[in-house]
Amino acid sequence: MRLLPTRSGTVPAPTRSQETRMSTTDQLLENAKAYQASFDKGDLPLPPAKGVAVVACMDARLNPYGLLGLSEGDAHVIRNAGGVVTQDELRSLAISQRLLGTTEVVLVQHTGCGMLTFTDDAFKASIEADTGIKPTWAAEAFTDLDASVRQNIARIKADPSIPHKDSVRGFVYDVETGGLREVV
Ligand SMILES: [Zn+2]
Repeated sequence: MRLLPTRSGTVPAPTRSQETRMSTTDQLLENAKAYQASFDKGDLPLPPAKGVAVVACMDARLNPYGLLGLSEGDAHVIRNAGGVVTQDELRSLAISQRLLGTTEVVLVQHTGCGMLTFTDDAFKASIEADTGIKPTWAAEAFTDLDASVRQNIARIKADPSIPHKDSVRGFVYDVETGGLREVV
């Protein structure tokens, strides 16, 4: 995830001279129409063809499909800020393995992750200062990338609801070189 300021992804409210301008979402919907126009994958089975679940950071520079050579129907791709394993990722992995037949897990975190740039305490304190409400969740920021990969792999391996542990592997993707390095 990137925490650097970026453009909002939307355009200002339309004025009379801008009525035809589209928001980013409108542009994406146009892309979706083009996608459907050439769509030919309506007969894919529900269980992922490659029997694998990928847990990855939501960072816009990380493309798990391109990186790992995956297409529609191939894999479960579970993404969040950091590619960290929380209760919800354990829930998704349990469903993926027990109900949909996956047996391998690939976890991908990456260099330059936004989660390396702040601390849980400071982030939660800033939200509390801003809103009066301290979040109930942990932000799961980290300071050591390799240690974070090992920690999150360990959480998967320790969870009794996830039956298949023979191939649970963790990696760091380098956003500058496109390389993938195995950590554990
Ligand atoms: Zn990230």
